[in-house]
Amino acid sequence: MTDMHFDSRAVHLPVPPLDGARPMAPPIYQTSGFAFDDPAVVADGLSRPDGAFVYGRLSNPTVRTLEEAMAGLEGGVASVAASSGMGAISAVLLGLLKPGDHLIAQPALYGGTAGLIADMAARFQIAVTYVAQDDPEAARAAIRPETRLLYLETIANPMTQVADIPGMCAAAREAGLISVVDNTFASPVLCRPLEHGADIVVHSTTKYLGGHSDVLGGIAVFAGDALYRKVWSYAIELGATPDPFGAWLTLRGMRTLSLRMARHCDNARVLATRLAEHPAVGAVHWPGLPSHPSHGLAAKLMSDFGGMFTFDLAAGREAGERFMTAVRLAQLAPSLGGVETLVFHPATSSHRMLTPEELAAVGIGQGSVRVSTGIEHAEDIWDDFAQALDQVGG
Ligand SMILES: *Cc1c(COP(=O)(O)O)cnc(C)c1O
Repeated sequence: MTDMHFDSRAVHLPVPPLDGARPMAPPIYQTSGFAFDDPAVVADGLSRPDGAFVYGRLSNPTVRTLEEAMAGLEGGVASVAASSGMGAISAVLLGLLKPGDHLIAQPALYGGTAGLIADMAARFQIAVTYVAQDDPEAARAAIRPETRLLYLETIANPMTQVADIPGMCAAAREAGLISVVDNTFASPVLCRPLEHGADIVVHSTTKYLGGHSDVLGGIAVFAGDALYRKVWSYAIELGATPDPFGAWLTLRGMRTLSLRMARHCDNARVLATRLAEHPAVGAVHWPGLPSHPSHGLAAKLMSDFGGMFTFDLAAGREAGERFMTAVRLAQLAPSLGGVETLVFHPATSSHRMLTPEELAAVGIGQGSVRVSTGIEHAEDIWDDFAQALDQVGG
């Protein structure tokens, strides 16, 4: 299986056989635990992530199928699934860091992750230094004796900066740091950070992997066994375990991941290109456009440029707000990566706490609109955006 193309491996999941036959879809083991005849088996399952199934918070066959499938797609040795992306990220950061440690992270981070890191600094004395995601020299300069970990996102929210994963992870490796990459926006179809030197990849599977806006989930995939075992033992204390049905829905979504990503990227290409020429629109931030600061890096690291982009309405904040209700096919919603097109206005929602100066510092405009491109027909999304742009004016 491992010598097949990614698209084929995503379809053929590692479903365990049953009496010589293989179910086409994995069974849902909707059970909280297991009963035994042999007490020795119980001890084994309690002490390691890949032992016998004993209790649902520690392991479950449906969840393990998801973990093995994701390890296969990201090129890791194993993974730990969680009930949400934040569950996986919390298990990794809190499971690997201790008071007195220091981490290096990029300034543009998913909001929940930024909050967790701020909280770790305030309550657990885990210090952080922010360094641009594409500046390995700055990362080297920020490393201290107590630095333990580097944290990046393949494509950052909402301005879509791309991380120099090989350069940054090389700097981390030289100093013995653990490097962690949130690959949610890219998905393993576009980029596999472990191939570029990362130690751990994390995902909100709520987004592209699940893909249908019907399940929350997260996962951490590991390049090596030691970190896998360490994070698993903390994850089971944290209790961020996915339920078997949620894991099953994610597996179901993953089988069409390649097809969906291709369409997300194609639609984003059409929309971003046309918006860039529209008189009501200022800059368009999509890594596929040659004008994007990360375009070169994105072309090197990713097989396509993703379905997420942000565009700036020239008329500013009120135009951004009005665009949210002027669209008809697209919907105003947080989250991303589902089959339907979603729009979001960071200045009045996710980033509303920032002052105009702080917003400008992270590159978000008052009229910036974030788009999660769906898999509808490109012309229908474009018609919708065009009529909404007519309403908000230029
Ligand atoms: C949504 C998201 C998360 C958090 O995932 P949840 O499933 O909502 O907990 C983390 N990172 C990125 C990049 C995300 O988009």
